[in-house]
Amino acid sequence: MSRMRASLVAALVTLTSLVALTTATTAPAHADECYSWGRSLSPGATGDDVAQLQVRVAGWAGYGVNMAIDGSYGAQTTQAVRGFQAAYGLSADGVAGPATYAKIYELQDPDCTPIHFSYAEVDGGCGAGGYSGGSVGAATVQRNLLRAMWRAEALRHRLGDRPLTVTSGFRSQACDRQVGGSGTGQHTYGTALDLVGSSTSLCTIAQGSRSAGFGAIFGPGYPDHDDHVHVDVRAGRSWSAPSCGI
Ligand SMILES: [Zn+2]
Repeated sequence: MSRMRASLVAALVTLTSLVALTTATTAPAHADECYSWGRSLSPGATGDDVAQLQVRVAGWAGYGVNMAIDGSYGAQTTQAVRGFQAAYGLSADGVAGPATYAKIYELQDPDCTPIHFSYAEVDGGCGAGGYSGGSVGAATVQRNLLRAMWRAEALRHRLGDRPLTVTSGFRSQACDRQVGGSGTGQHTYGTALDLVGSSTSLCTIAQGSRSAGFGAIFGPGYPDHDDHVHVDVRAGRSWSAPSCGI
């Protein structure tokens, strides 16, 4: 009888540990739908998990910093992680650990887009939808759109969490020509977003964009940009919004 009870207790203990183990393993499930980090990351780290982190914090690297998504945790990544942590009320130590990941998980949708932007908002223009017909393949277009959206999410938070709307994201080459573009511009790569805000002026958007990781900013005063702010993640810096002092 006592042996039987002992076995029962042992079985219960095993069951309890199994439940605990399962719970521990599945706890970050909401994040797993997109991407979960399996280790803390700090300066010197390299890998795809660093690149995944860089995509999400690139909008926080500082004024005029358009950081590379290169999978190498250097000075800019450290600065970006610090900026992200400070912006969301976390301890700003520049090391990405559980608290930083938890905040990112809160901010990302199952398809990896940031919560205030979606692929539906940025896919093919001219009513076409989708990601084909651009200057690069559909997968690259989507990758670029994701990078632009995370910087837009940073911009939105920087500007006081007031809504930003994308009026044009990816455009096929045909669509780009149709709306008066060259047919090979940044929108055909998925790297560009045209933004407006319902309660934020275009100049405020353009000015804030300088600290949100964008390589290009074109806004009021630049030809054909008086009704939106164009931002994109091209390398280098190309800014012009003369009416906003840029
Ligand atoms: Zn544009």
